[in-house]
Amino acid sequence: MTAKRISFEFFPPKTSEGLEKLLGVQQQLLARKPAFFSCTYGAGGSTRDNTLNTVAQLREHHADTAPHLSCIGEGREELVKLINGYRDSGVTRIVALRGDLPSGMGYAQGELKYADDLVRLIREVSGDHFTLEVAAYPEMHPQARSFADDIAHFKRKIDAGANAGLTQYFYNADAYGFFMDALQKQGCDAPVYPGIMPILNVANLIRFSNTCGADIPRWLASKLNDLKDDEVAVRAFGTEIVTRLCERLLAMGAPGLHFYTMNQAAPTLKVLDNLGL
Ligand code: FAD
Repeated sequence: MTAKRISFEFFPPKTSEGLEKLLGVQQQLLARKPAFFSCTYGAGGSTRDNTLNTVAQLREHHADTAPHLSCIGEGREELVKLINGYRDSGVTRIVALRGDLPSGMGYAQGELKYADDLVRLIREVSGDHFTLEVAAYPEMHPQARSFADDIAHFKRKIDAGANAGLTQYFYNADAYGFFMDALQKQGCDAPVYPGIMPILNVANLIRFSNTCGADIPRWLASKLNDLKDDEVAVRAFGTEIVTRLCERLLAMGAPGLHFYTMNQAAPTLKVLDNLGL
């Protein structure tokens, strides 16, 4: 079996204590030899400084740490400044997104409408300097008009110069299989890495899944609902479900896994232990 690429995603902590804690989490995850870490970005620039600072700190321990960058609600000039700043500081990978404005920020589209516009801008400003990862949606992006449209839009990001996809999380391995088949039929053979969300808290998972369009299958929602007041049981069951999902995805040929760590080491490490990775 060829080596599988593993990557870990964090969000930027709001406090210096949170950042210290995150650096400890990074230390624990480093042992699994990830290809890269990544750090999310609040669309519209809401976490700009925190993302910059967190990426700089994480890079002291792993040079390949990728900032996420989104274009919604941002001016072209500000984006160019950020891209040049990242290039000058030695960052070599960016997760390029459209983003969703946080509620309360109103509707400010920005000069670039979709993520493929951002991919084009990064290539225009910095050539091949960055490896670019973009978002993919095996269960379809909630705003897409159709599955076929969403596939075409993903392909547009690759055609604009992105190197690979990282998926929204999902719990149905077949969705990934159909997505990859559909891409291949369109002549797109870019690697797409499944995004893996550990199951930590039932209410949070259901709330977040409703907003991002991830489907919690009925049987899974029902079982989680039965366990929801017992955090230990939820985590144990979640580890089993997520392990089985990863096993199936890897057996189906997924080139690796991208973990949404939620800034915690243990849930991801348990799954990796089960997988022998
Ligand atoms: P796009 O690829 O631009 O797609 C957005 C929608 O527009 C889709 O429905 C697509 O089908 C449609 N579309 C695309 N092009 C066109 C076109 N030309 N005409 C008509 N429709 C079109 N959000 C954050 O705010 N910060 C983060 O750090 C962050 N990290 C993420 C990491 C990963 C791995 C993933 C999967 C998502 C992340 N998100 C993040 C969420 C993401 O920003 C949202 O899902 C957002 O709604 C879409 O972003 P996108 O880059 O997929 O947009």
